[in-house]
Amino acid sequence: MVEQQIRRRGVRDQRVLEVMTLLPRHLFVPMSLRDASYADTPLAIGLGQTISQPYIVALMSSALELRGSERVLEVGTGSGYQAAILGCLAASVHSVELVPYLAERATRLLSRLGCRNVAVHQGDGSLGWKDGAPYDAVVVTAAAPMLPAPISDQLARGGRLVIPLAAGDGYQLLTLVRRTEDGSLSERAITSVAFMPLRGKFGMRN
Ligand code: SAH
Repeated sequence: MVEQQIRRRGVRDQRVLEVMTLLPRHLFVPMSLRDASYADTPLAIGLGQTISQPYIVALMSSALELRGSERVLEVGTGSGYQAAILGCLAASVHSVELVPYLAERATRLLSRLGCRNVAVHQGDGSLGWKDGAPYDAVVVTAAAPMLPAPISDQLARGGRLVIPLAAGDGYQLLTLVRRTEDGSLSERAITSVAFMPLRGKFGMRN
């Protein structure tokens, strides 16, 4: 998976490649789809939600430039796979999931795997998660109409934020946002992606 799908497409962050080699992705996939766990595609995890494609998880994780000391926020826990990866790459992770069942399931799995620096919270992550702010890195794993102000407000100076921003036709531009040392924000598009919609106060309407 890592060699064919990720390194070959240009992800070079050695720590991301190592963690994705070691973490058992099949544990985050429902039993009925286990055979497809390492396939080059997102997979359904129930309740209409998905676990992201391995390459996209790698791309988002490497864009955050994690070195091990960061406080990280994830919006959209889903299966908990991306949260577990981030937990291995940073000092601490707060991950927020709107759907109670998914939040509970991810909490159980992450504790079984010993990811002690990952805290899963049930709630509206379009508001960020104030208790852990400010964050050195933020990843939003659902499609947003625009950058939710409460989330960017929780980004520390020098911090990186990755978010799929709606670009019409059901696609989004995966966008890297930086808060510079003087406090302003800069944006750069990475690539085109297709995520499930972000819900909640600053999410997609309907
Ligand atoms: N990161 C996940 C994939 C996320 S799929 C993984 O590694 O498996 C998108 C997730 O965002 C879904 O689980 C969905 O329920 C959740 N979501 C949507 N809107 C949300 C919101 N406002 N707050 C928190 N989670 C939200």
